[in-house]
Amino acid sequence: MLLAVMLCAFTLSGCDGIFDSGSGGGGHGGGGHGGGNFVPMDGSPSHSKDTAKDEETDKGSDEDIIYKPPTGGYTKRVALTFDDGPHVERTKMLADELAKYGYHATFFVVGNRANYDAEALKKAAGIGCEIGSHTHTHKNLTNLTPSQIVEEMNNSANSISAVTGVPVTLMRPPEGAHNETVRNNLNYPLIMWSVDSMDWKYRDAQKDYDSIMNTVFDGSIILMHDLYPATAAAVEKLIPDLMAKGYKFVTVSELMAARGITMQAGKTYSAARP
Ligand SMILES: [Zn+2]
Repeated sequence: MLLAVMLCAFTLSGCDGIFDSGSGGGGHGGGGHGGGNFVPMDGSPSHSKDTAKDEETDKGSDEDIIYKPPTGGYTKRVALTFDDGPHVERTKMLADELAKYGYHATFFVVGNRANYDAEALKKAAGIGCEIGSHTHTHKNLTNLTPSQIVEEMNNSANSISAVTGVPVTLMRPPEGAHNETVRNNLNYPLIMWSVDSMDWKYRDAQKDYDSIMNTVFDGSIILMHDLYPATAAAVEKLIPDLMAKGYKFVTVSELMAARGITMQAGKTYSAARP
C-alpha cells in the first residue's frame, strides 16, 4: 500500500494541475501562473497572481558573468527540462541564460500554446535547445482512446514543428501518466525524469535550487517548468554552480547520444547514467 502511494505521488509530481479543469486532487500547483501572458487551456480565468518574488530586476549585466569553458575530462552531463511552456517571458529568459554558456536544454511544449508564444519557442530552438511535445492540450493520456492519443500527439508535433522548423522527436506525457495503451500508441520516446525540482509547488528559487543540488547526479534528467519567475532565478544560479561541480548542460537527445543510448518509440527514459 505504501509503495502504491509513493508511486502515485511520483507519477503525479511531474506537472502541475493547472491545465486540468475540475480534475481535482493530485496535490498540484493550483491556479497561479507567473505572468500576464498565460492563456489557460480550459478557457477559465487565469486564477491567482504569482506570489513568488520576481527577481528579474536583480540580474546584473552580462559582464558580471565569468565563464569558464569546459576543459578536458569534463564528462558529467545533466539535462534540464522545462514543461508546460512556452512562456513569453520565462522561456526567453531561460534561453538567454543557456546561451550565455553555449548550453542547451529541452522544452516540452504544449502544442496549442506553440503559436501563441512562437517568438519564445523560436528563440529557444534557435540557440540549439530541443523542443519536445507535452501533448496538444495537456490531457492525461491514460484517460484517452488510442485515436485520441494519436491525435493529441500529432496535433502537437505539427504545431511545434510549424514554429520551429524542426521535427519533434520526443515527448513527455502530462503528469508523467502513461500505461500500455499510451505507450503503444505514441510513436515517440517518452521522456520522464529522475530529479524533480518541485518548482510548481515551491515557487521559491532557493528551494528549487536546493532540491536539485541535493539530488542531482551524472546523467540525470531534471524536471522544471518554464512558467515561474522562481524557476528562472534558480536556473541562473544552478548553471554556474553545477558547472563548478563538473557538469555540462545538454538536451535529452544529446545526453542519450553521449551515453550510447538509442531511444525508441513507446519506451520511457528518466536518466542516462555513465
Ligand atoms: Zn505539464
